[in-house]
This record gives sequence, C-alpha cells and structure tokens, in this order.
Amino acid sequence: MSLLVWDYTREYENERHDILAAVDTVFRSGQLILGPKVEQFERDFAAYHDVPHCVGVDNGTNAIVLGLQAIGVGQGDEVITVSNTAAPTVVAIDAVGARPVFVDVHEDTYLMDVDQVAAAITDRTRCLLPVHLYGQCVDMTPLTALAADRGIPILEDCAQAHGARRSGRVAGSWGKAAAFSFYPTKVLGAYGDGGATITSDDEVAANLRRLRYYGMEDRYYVVATPGHNSRLDEVQAEILRRKLTRMDEYIGARRAVAARYAEGLGDTGLTLPAVAPGNEHVYYLYVVRHPERERILTALRSYGIMLNVSYRWPVHTMSGFSHLGYAAGDLPVTERCAGEIFSLPMYPSLSVSDQSKVIDALRHTLDTL
Ligand SMILES: *Cc1c(COP(=O)(O)O)cnc(C)c1O
Repeated sequence: MSLLVWDYTREYENERHDILAAVDTVFRSGQLILGPKVEQFERDFAAYHDVPHCVGVDNGTNAIVLGLQAIGVGQGDEVITVSNTAAPTVVAIDAVGARPVFVDVHEDTYLMDVDQVAAAITDRTRCLLPVHLYGQCVDMTPLTALAADRGIPILEDCAQAHGARRSGRVAGSWGKAAAFSFYPTKVLGAYGDGGATITSDDEVAANLRRLRYYGMEDRYYVVATPGHNSRLDEVQAEILRRKLTRMDEYIGARRAVAARYAEGLGDTGLTLPAVAPGNEHVYYLYVVRHPERERILTALRSYGIMLNVSYRWPVHTMSGFSHLGYAAGDLPVTERCAGEIFSLPMYPSLSVSDQSKVIDALRHTLDTL
C-alpha cells in the first residue's frame, strides 16, 4: 500500500465511535440545517478565538467570499494578497468582483512580505488579505499598524492555520474578520465540506448571517442582496464541535511529526520549514525545498510514497487569471519557490514507522542524486 501525503483513515478508526455518535445524534434530533448544533459549534469556535461571533458556512472559499462582502468589498475594489496560496483565496476575491493585487513572499517562510504592502495600496484598495500559509502566521504587527493607519480592513485567510499563534495571539483574532476552511485535510477537518468566518464586529456578523441565508434576516424575506445559500449543516457542525475539543492534541501530534522530520532530515541538503520569530507553527503542511524536486518526487514514488506540491503554479501565472495582466517574472520569490517546494506526509495519525520509511527513502534518494 502506498503512503499518502494525507490520510484520515487511521484517525477515523480511533474516533469512529465519536463520529458515528455525532451523526446519529443529529439524525435523531429532527433538525438537519442551521439548528442547535451549528449554534453550539459557532459558540465554541468563537470562544476558542476569544471573539464574540462565528458564522458557520459551507466551505472555506465561501467563508472568504462572505467575509469580503460582509466588510463591504465588491465590484472594482482592490484586495492585496499573495500569489503563493491555494487558488481559492484568489477565486474568492474574483467571485465578489474585486481585483486581486499580489505582493511577493519571504524566501524562508513563504509568507506575505508585509514590507511590500504599503507600495501596493491605491485609492481603490478596500481590503488586505494575508494568508497564514502552511500553518504559521504572517507578520501581523506591522500589517495591522499599516491597516489602521490607512483605514483599510484586514480579512485573514486562516484556512491553513487553525490554532496557530504569533506573539501569543491566535490566527484570526487580528483582522476585521477571518475565514476558516474545515475541508477534511485541514487542521480542523470535517467529514465533508465546511467553513466559518469569525469577527468581533457586530455589524459584520449580522451581514455574514444574512449573506449565508439568501440575504434574509427573517424567514422568506430578503432584506438585502447579494445573498447566497452558504449554510453549514448540523452533521458537520456536530462532528466539528467534538473535534474542536481535541484540536490542540491534533496540533501537538503534528508538531511531533515535524520534530521527527527535523531530526531525521536536518543534515541532508533539503531546506526544512523555517519558523518565523514568535510563531507557533501548527504544520498544516510540512513544506521542504530542493532544486532537484522532480527527481525526488519520482524516486519517492518508486518507494510507494506520494509527495505533493503546494503549490506548483503561482496563481498569477494561471490562465484563469490572465485577465489580471501579470506576467512570469513579476513575483520572483514566489516563482522561484514554486519550482522547488514539495510537501512530506503530514497528519496527526502518521505513525512513527511510516514516517521512518519516508525519512529513510528521502535520505537514500538525496545521497544518490
Ligand atoms: C483550503 C483553502 C481555502 C478554501 O477552502 P475550501 O473549504 O476548500 O473552500 C482557501 N484558502 C486557503 C489558504 C486554503 O488552504
């Protein structure tokens, strides 16, 4: 059997009783959509982040779409973000009619280079959208200072950074709002799709609740457009509520996997993940770098080990975004990293023996390159 970069089946075996109990509780409750389980999960997830509001939605992409609309971003506005991200960050900006404006990333952490943001601001900039990529936070202290100074709201993309901290502060607690995905691979993953947007702002929260429910506040009466059907369902909410109580354990297990990789691969030619000062990394992905990436991926496949590349194509070079007018060479660090990075298997239930196979196969491959 091959070893995958992500696999939930062992975790499911460990938690099967709890997951099935969650499903059964909801099925027997008589309420399948926007009922008490969603409310309970929203309360718990907001409390984890020490913010008053959480609005559960159908996926992480729509958590960004609704987050942007809830803070007033729309047609013709500019949103400053990065090209080194999962494409949905940018798909969401495009979906609200706004224009993504890209800044480059740091060569060591692959995170937004906050020093480049000021120069990218124009009189049409309506939002700064940092992505806490791979499990660690963007340098939020200077970014929030800049945003406050220029009166521009921040929406944090926390899809890869549940529970990550910088300077002691949890991801999602800096911005006007923050978007999360509960796609199964994420640090807090559902058994299907899910997402949430959190905020400390009462008006933004009210906007989010209306936006996810057709633009209605009361039943069958549309108060304002746009509206969506972007609801989180009761089953996923109850599974997420139960898994949230174990989230810090999942993060601890991810950190243990990362520490074993660092120990086993520290003296090879691989560039291992750099943790920025003050960051508490949650290792959504374990991203390494090597100029001979393609040979390494091929060699590991021969051992039955399937590595992944997140992400091979910077968003600004994709044909779907050619209308933005970017060209190859515009974001040199992003483009250079995209040619060399790849991800090693990373999930809380990755066994020590499976991980040893990955480390041994990598060591052998690097020795014989
Ligand atoms: C996963 C992800 C999303 C999208 O979340 P979905 O639930 O898949 O829609 C957005 N941004 C980033 C950075 C992601 O990793």
